[in-house]
Amino acid sequence: MPARLPPALKRLGQHFLIDQNIVRKIVALAAIQPGETILEIGPGRGILTAAICAVAERVIAVEIDPQLYAYLAETFAGCRNLDLRCGDALELAYESLPERTVVVANLPYYASTPLLMKFLETRAGITRMVIMLQAEVAERLIAKPGTRDYGVLSVLAQRCAEISWGFRVSANCFRPRPEVASAVVRLNRRSLASVGDEPDATFAHVVRAAFAHRRKTLANSLRDEGWEPAQIAAALSSSRIAPTCRAESLTVDQFVTLAKAFRT
Ligand code: SAM
Repeated sequence: MPARLPPALKRLGQHFLIDQNIVRKIVALAAIQPGETILEIGPGRGILTAAICAVAERVIAVEIDPQLYAYLAETFAGCRNLDLRCGDALELAYESLPERTVVVANLPYYASTPLLMKFLETRAGITRMVIMLQAEVAERLIAKPGTRDYGVLSVLAQRCAEISWGFRVSANCFRPRPEVASAVVRLNRRSLASVGDEPDATFAHVVRAAFAHRRKTLANSLRDEGWEPAQIAAALSSSRIAPTCRAESLTVDQFVTLAKAFRT
């Protein structure tokens, strides 16, 4: 008897892909190479998992829902290259992933940003990601300075990865149908040498403080977030950034320079 399909749980962001054409496009964008391990977060009912297992040497798939996990374990029982795990992907030991791991996933909406930040903060292992998330979040990921969507997420993500737009996916490609459109993006991790190996805490702190008051000048916004005016003036001057700038006009490289100036 075939395994029984569990009902979709809204609280876990269970909107399952039903369109094989979208599945093919995601796998093509991932351009999986020999020797790479694929990490799929939230295999769900397995539509993407099956397509990935057909082309990848090794697949690790982490599903939080025990009922779906049991369904998948039965459905994929004969699949030798699938390492199926039941658990919360936010708790995964990312640092122990194999070298040359590629994330390919249709992420649950409620956790897409924290999961993405986990992937980006992983120092080793993950080399690129092809992920589906809300179109609105995808727009923020690729946004350039001076645009409405450019903000904390754009800067933190673009510092760690080169991000390119894949394609938009209509809500009609899922069951149950979500309320918003989705999009697929590809993120190629920058090398550690280009990102720098200093702790990221100051960088993230500076970026968040700079955007905390979007309408204020950079100097005022940083001051409102607790930095001393003299320290701000010195850091801006050594970074050659005008104190009257607004956060949204700074490039990612300028944020990197500014964070370094605050560290010294
Ligand atoms: N990959 C499937 C597809 O494309 O049809 C399902 C995608 S669905 C948008 C998201 C999946 O992630 C669901 O199966 C959900 O149970 C699972 N999920 C939600 N939160 C999770 C978490 N923290 N860790 C692992 N899986 C999670």
